[in-house]
Amino acid sequence: MFTTERTTLAQHLAAQCRDLPDAADLPALLLDVALACKYVAKAVATGSLGGVLGSADTINVQGETQKTLDVLSNDLFLRQAEWGGHLAALASEEMEDPHPIPAHYPCGRYLLVYDPLDGSSNIDVNVAVGSIFSVLRAPGDGTPADEAAFLQPGTAQMAAGYALYGPSTMLVLTVGRGVHGFTLDPLVGEFILTHPAMTIPADTCEFAINASNSRFWEAPVKRYVEECLAGRSGPRAKDFNMRWIASLVADVHRILVRGGIYLYPRDNKDPDKPGRLRQLYEANPVAFLVEQAGGRASTGTARLLDVVPTTLHQRIPLIFGARHEVERIDGYHAAQPEAALDTPLFNTRSLFRVAT
Ligand code: MN
Ligand code: MN
Repeated sequence: MFTTERTTLAQHLAAQCRDLPDAADLPALLLDVALACKYVAKAVATGSLGGVLGSADTINVQGETQKTLDVLSNDLFLRQAEWGGHLAALASEEMEDPHPIPAHYPCGRYLLVYDPLDGSSNIDVNVAVGSIFSVLRAPGDGTPADEAAFLQPGTAQMAAGYALYGPSTMLVLTVGRGVHGFTLDPLVGEFILTHPAMTIPADTCEFAINASNSRFWEAPVKRYVEECLAGRSGPRAKDFNMRWIASLVADVHRILVRGGIYLYPRDNKDPDKPGRLRQLYEANPVAFLVEQAGGRASTGTARLLDVVPTTLHQRIPLIFGARHEVERIDGYHAAQPEAALDTPLFNTRSLFRVAT
């Protein structure tokens, strides 16, 4: 049915930020980010025809091979967000150090940190990918910011969100006033409010975890998943389904739309990586959205948003979604803190002591 009763992203942001303290520039910045997402959506949609698939034959700071689209998407974010006078620096998964604002543009009061293309290993097989972003206040007032400026806990975020490049392109964001979802109208080129006030039910019978890592999981997570798998005849007395898209944005979006729980827990696969996901541009924005939607986000032993990062590309365990389920897993951690990283050979009570 045709209607003129549509709320655009610009209208929505104006209304949400009007009386938000210290947020006068926030709508303009978020509209620049939204434009970057539209450009990425366009590049993603051309697929093989646009020559954007495949590897860029370069390695990023994480030691991962960059895809052509990782590099292109990062540049699109830089070009759309650096000129407006809103930012004191930008940082991303694809750049080792923060990107300073070029001298010919004014320096602003916010920081933008982002994952320009999340789930990029999915791109060659034409499965949904996304972009994730987080906005922080810059400590200085209009002065350039360095890496230390970004090392703020998730509670300090002013805004966070993601774009999902699926069958339709969506933008989902929060400025601390609930979570709202927009669908791109490709003919008008506008994001239109289609999913106001998204919420995550407190209970669920769907969980998402990469089960191939099960031998590396910490004991409380093993217990939780085993109880889910035991289904109706186990201690939970109900059957669970498993979902795993291997694209964080798509997994988050499913949970915001129909509920569930997601785990990328601490494991002992690689002692240098206590978690897989990056705190500043993956876990923090996701946790902010999840809490704003009534869910809960945890590392297993702490509220995720309270953790103070020590490096720009820090990794962190992430468990989020249905509030009662995350509370249950936190409870399992509290009940067996000693066994948190139990393995047959390397634990505190075994022959081979782990230095701590
Ligand atoms: Mn990612
Ligand atoms: Mn990425």
